[in-house]
Amino acid sequence: MEDCLFCKIIKGEIPSSKVFENEYVYAFNDINPVAPVHILVIPKEHICCADKVDEKNSIYIAKVFEAISQIAKNLDLKEGYRIVNNCGENAGQTVFHMHFHLIAGTNFGWPPC
Ligand code: AMP
Ligand code: ZN
Repeated sequence: MEDCLFCKIIKGEIPSSKVFENEYVYAFNDINPVAPVHILVIPKEHICCADKVDEKNSIYIAKVFEAISQIAKNLDLKEGYRIVNNCGENAGQTVFHMHFHLIAGTNFGWPPC
């Protein structure tokens, strides 16, 4: 995906503050954090949104969750954390390369809105 911001971040064409990387997953600090810890965890394959996950690409999503578990251990997020995925306009998705917000370091309310 030539014009995708997060594909460019994966390729190193746009700088990012890397937190974790393996064959399937890249994770980096959000440029505009909403909590003391705010990491974006993304699949290395361009999947626009949750709506487009299928049996051919779902391995990337499984690997995202393995990575989140690893990152949480690395950062010692024992008090808990929230994982957010916005899908589509009404949910507030602004970057159309599927990503998971891993946010922590504060006590979150529920419901979220
Ligand atoms: P969403 O609104 O769920 O699509 O989330 C997009 C997220 O990407 C927002 O939290 C932005 O702050 C973040 N973001 C946008 N551009 C960058 C960037 N260059 N580096 C890091 N995070 C970014
Ligand atoms: Zn992309």
